Order: sequence, then structure tokens, then C-alpha cells
Amino acid sequence: MAKVLIIGAGGVGSVVAHKCASVPEVFTEIMLASRTKAKCDKIAAAIGGNRIQTAQVDADNVQETIALIEQYKPDLLINVALPYQDLPLMDACLATRTNYMDTANYEPKDVAKFEYKWQWAYQDRFKEAGILALLGCGFDPGVTSVYTAYAAKHYFDEIHYLDIVDCNAGDHGKAFATNFNPEINIREITQRGKYWENGQWIEIDPMSIHKPVNYPNIGDRESYLLYHEELESLVKSYPSIKRARFWMTFGQKYITVLNVLQEVGLTSIKPINYEGKEIVPLQFLKAVLPEPSSLGEGYKGQTSIGCQIKGIKDGKERTYYVWNNCDHAACYKEIGAQAVSYTTGVPAMLGAKMILTGKWSGTGVFNIEQFDPDPFMAEIGKYGLPWNEQIDMPLPIEQ
Ligand code: NDP
Repeated sequence: MAKVLIIGAGGVGSVVAHKCASVPEVFTEIMLASRTKAKCDKIAAAIGGNRIQTAQVDADNVQETIALIEQYKPDLLINVALPYQDLPLMDACLATRTNYMDTANYEPKDVAKFEYKWQWAYQDRFKEAGILALLGCGFDPGVTSVYTAYAAKHYFDEIHYLDIVDCNAGDHGKAFATNFNPEINIREITQRGKYWENGQWIEIDPMSIHKPVNYPNIGDRESYLLYHEELESLVKSYPSIKRARFWMTFGQKYITVLNVLQEVGLTSIKPINYEGKEIVPLQFLKAVLPEPSSLGEGYKGQTSIGCQIKGIKDGKERTYYVWNNCDHAACYKEIGAQAVSYTTGVPAMLGAKMILTGKWSGTGVFNIEQFDPDPFMAEIGKYGLPWNEQIDMPLPIEQ
């Protein structure tokens, strides 16, 4: 029925390829392309059955991607490379009138800053070209935004308080590793935190607000207030929101090691001269850290990500908590992935399915909460990410 081109053969790309391959009634042809073709070939071999074609592409090079698209002619390009490639890949999609999807918003390489403004600026051009771009279709952003849309549609007249809580209570046994691309991850958590309150953004020092939050089947975990990209679109989509925050758990050891790396300058993105060659310390650090796709074996424990919401329904105060718990070892057993890659790749496949089956349609640039959450919520469980909900119970974030 449809042809997809997946760009990026890392931890998330592997899950997207596996999951698309398991839905042949929608994804009849799949190509996986990345900077290092050998990684695509390894994933294709693991999936087997000649389901996946592979190719080499430098997604920073718009002409190279255009050539690949013109040769393969996909119905949809799924970008699971890095946020740096969002704009060049959107340019290639515009030039070839191809639908586009990603899981993380654009970041310039030389400033550790993520904002939707660069991608929202493509709105008119995508509309005029008659194509669709779906931004942020992983777990967070992605499922957390669908959860919010589902809550708004079914349980609230007005959402007033939104807390997105993201816990990884897993143990991969490594001294220090990040669960998604180390460079992007460390840029995200070392920048200043930010949350939305009463119509404005409040900035805080990195990791300066934290508290224990109780997670289902896990217990209390210290959770740190960070800025996360879905907050930017959610407060626009739901203007009744008075406060929106994002919390993520970190273990004490992770924070201690990160502090040391920061203090010695290894997380810096300012180029330095090393033996006559210009290098970026954070890129060097990334090169010595484990790859996210290599963490699955032996990874134990669960992730728990959800939305805790307070607002008004029929004039009465209401609370709502919706979440998914995902088990690292179960993901590894199923497709050789760890849960952070899995929880990102499954929604990417399902978002692609929503577009390719016409359940989500339109022209222009969309954030995921702009689409009907119901068909997505109806299917996400069967693809591996079942959800739970609690209505009118005390919210753990407030305890
Ligand atoms: P990895 O580092 O494991 O994989 C990234 C892949 O992109 C690698 O295969 C890499 O190639 C490839 N790549 C990098 N640059 C280029 C380029 N110029 N051209 C072609 N391919 C390129 O990262 P993850 O799989 O963990 O993360 C992938 C994306 O998913 C990231 O954008 C991340 O931010 C996002 N993400 C989103 C989440 C969500 O919930 N929304 C959660 C987790 C991740 P090579 O192997 O050669 O380096």
C-alpha cells in the first residue's frame, strides 16, 4: 500500500524499521538510509525476509536526499536521524513533494537551543506544495502530546495544570551512558530549565528544581524540572493552561558524572584546537560513550512516562493521570532494543500508519496534538505501548 523512507539507523531507527516491517499491510516497501550504510544493513539482516532495502545518505546534503527520494519515490519520509537534519530533510521533502515526519525539533549545531520556530516557518510552503509535515511523533514529544489531546477531548472542558513526568528506572550496567544520542541528550539537560506559568516562560538554572515523584510499579524517584519541546506547542494548542512543566528522573551517579564532565569542559559545543585539528569537545565525548542502540542487552527495569493533568469538567475540578510503563528487557527480547528507543520508535511507526491510512491528513506543518487522538490511542497498545489512566485521584506530582 505505501512506501516509506526511514532516515537514521541508530537506536530509534532500528525500532521504526522493525515495527514497520511487522505491519506489511500498510508498509509494503521500506527503505532504511543513513550516514553509515553498514548500520542499515545490520538492521535489515536482523529483520530478514528481504523486507528492508538500504542506502547511504548524508542527510545534511539536500541534493543527496533529493536524489534518493527521486529514485525511491516514498510516500513518507520518517526522520529519525538527528535534530540537525530536520531542516535539510524538510527542504528535500518540499523539493520532491514528499510527506515528512520526525521525533525531535530542529536544533542548530552551534547553539544548544531547540524551538519550533524554524520548522513552523515551513507552514505556507508545505501547504502550497500540498504535503504534510508531522513534527514530534516519538514518546515525548509524541505520545505525551496525544495523551494531552485525549484528555482535552474526553475529560476536560479546560486544562489548567499539565505535568509531564518521564522516569527511566532502568539499569544498563554501564558506568555512564545516555539512552538516546549522547550529543543531543547532553545538550538538552545541561541547558537552562524553563516552564510555562500564567502566560510566560519562567527560566531556572539547570536541574535546580527537583523533587521525588512516585511512579506506578516503580516508586519514588528524584525528578528534575527541564525544558522540553512539547511544552511550546501544547501551551499554544491549549491556551487555558496556566502552568505546564516537564520532569525527568536522573540517578545520583549520572548527575555526579555529568557534573564532572561539565566542569572539565567535555560537554562544551565550542570548537577547540586539538593537535592542529578543530574538534568539538561534546562530539568527542559522544564518540567515546556507548551508542544508544548498544544498551539493550542486560538492561533491566522499566520506564514510566505520562501526563498528570488538572482542570475543570462541568464546572468541577478534575484530575487525570495517563501513562505507559515499558520494560527494557521485554523490548530487548522482542526486537533487540532498549525501552527509550522502543518508546520512541513505536509511536513513529504508528504516526506513519495514521498518515498513510488517511486517519491523519491535511497540508502544512502539524504538531501531533492537532490530530484526532482516538485512532492512535485505540492502536498504540497493540503495538507494544499500552496505557493506563486514573480519573479524579490525587496526582503523584502534588504529593
Ligand atoms: P542515535 O545516535 O542512536 O542514531 C542517530 C542516527 O542518525 C545514526 O544512525 C546516525 O548515523 C544518523 N545520522 C546522523 N547524522 C546523519 C546525517 N547527516 N545523515 C544521515 N544519517 C545521520 O540516536 P537515537 O536513535 O537515539 O535518536 C534518533 C532521534 O530520535 C534523535 O533526533 C533523538 O533526538 C530522537 N529521540 C526522540 C525521542 C522522543 O521521545 N521524541 C526520544 C529519543 C530520541 P551514524 O551511525 O553514522 O552516526
